[in-house]
Amino acid sequence: MSKSATLETDDQLELRRAARALFAKHASERDVRIWDEEGIYPDGLYREIAGLGWYDIVAEGTVEGAAGLLAALCEEIGRGSSDLVALFNLNLSGLRDLQRWGTPEQLEKYGAPVLRGERRLSIAVSEPDVGSDAASVTTRAVAAGDGWVLNGQKTYCEGAGIKGSVMELVAKVGDGGRKRDQLAVFMVPVDTPGIEVRRMPALGRNISGIYEVFLRDVELPADALLGEVGQGWQILKERLVLERIMISSGFVGSSSAVIDLTVAYANEREQFGKPIASFQGVSLPLAEMNVRLDAARCAVRRSAELFDLGLACEVESTMAKFLCGQIYAESSALAMQIQGAYGYVRDHPLPMHHSDGIIARVVAGPPSLQLDYVARSMGLRVGA
Ligand SMILES: Cc1cc2nc3c(=O)[nH]c(=O)nc-3n(C[C@H](O)[C@H](O)[C@H](O)COP(=O)(O)OP(=O)(O)OC[C@H]3O[C@@H](n4cnc5c(N)ncnc54)[C@H](O)[C@@H]3O)c2cc1C
Repeated sequence: MSKSATLETDDQLELRRAARALFAKHASERDVRIWDEEGIYPDGLYREIAGLGWYDIVAEGTVEGAAGLLAALCEEIGRGSSDLVALFNLNLSGLRDLQRWGTPEQLEKYGAPVLRGERRLSIAVSEPDVGSDAASVTTRAVAAGDGWVLNGQKTYCEGAGIKGSVMELVAKVGDGGRKRDQLAVFMVPVDTPGIEVRRMPALGRNISGIYEVFLRDVELPADALLGEVGQGWQILKERLVLERIMISSGFVGSSSAVIDLTVAYANEREQFGKPIASFQGVSLPLAEMNVRLDAARCAVRRSAELFDLGLACEVESTMAKFLCGQIYAESSALAMQIQGAYGYVRDHPLPMHHSDGIIARVVAGPPSLQLDYVARSMGLRVGA
């Protein structure tokens, strides 16, 4: 196994065992491959996850060692698919936002159905002309009577079209001053009149799916506003830290699954009368990938430990995401090369890992922006 020796708490090890048992029963390698190939959302799996109480890790407020527990869980789920981690993360990050910024009534209205496994959460920031420059959103929210009316368009919203989804949607409310001070987050059930969602055909992430969302005079009640007008940017910024830890751990799990598959194949496949693992052109790149994967895993764990100690870890979690996204993209590409024609055939998990690995670098912030952030933290006069 590519998994390294670790010093994990009993609670983390227990959760890992529970995740393996869940996947053995409800999400076999074959199940995940079919969900990916056919674009199926496994509602039953997420109902099981809700039943196991894993969402309570954030919904109950302060759970000791929450980030470490979630990192362990996401690594295990990631062994099946990083897309399944993305769906898990969307619920957890959304519940944490509700816990941190919402009223008890909002937590009950929007969070409780997620805890029961009846609804899902998603996030809607990106727009046709707004990607990395997230503060520039143009979707508008206007106060009307006791509530709000929203108009605009969102893109690439993962899982937003799944039945029962509630979007955390970032809209512009005011004008003038700094763009980021004009933003607010609204809880928007996808079945609200005036909303149309369209699935976007994509190379990967086929289990969650990515969606375009059109909003035409969408009327929302007053309690759809999460936090206050002007706090939208802060909500997004705070959300990102734990989100990066979870997503990165998922990439570690997916990379280690990919390396394990490739090690097994390289030992078994014989050419020129020998296992291909005996050729250094095969063994050394795999060994190097494992070294780098282990460093990436340590980087995520450090971020989780800092987070759980209540210490700042924006830079550390950014570096972890940069490393883990890179490793998943590179390990899945290397695996495709070593497994040759076998890995290219669609009755095998590698095509899914390869197409999901390509986007690992981009989701939750592309590498150039992450390096830009790290450069600023080093005191480099970026953009001076
Ligand atoms: C599978 C998937 C799931 C997604 N899920 C969601 C979701 O659920 N909700 C949501 O709102 N969005 C989602 N997105 C969108 C995602 O957040 C964006 O892809 C991301 O913010 C980057 O934006 P962009 O792709 O438009 O790239 P752009 O911002 O247009 O950037 C294009 C290129 O320019 C570079 N670049 C841009 N600005 C700079 C700069 N200042 N310095 C240096 N280089 C720069 C980038 O590195 C990148 O290589 C998803 C995307 C994908 C592919």
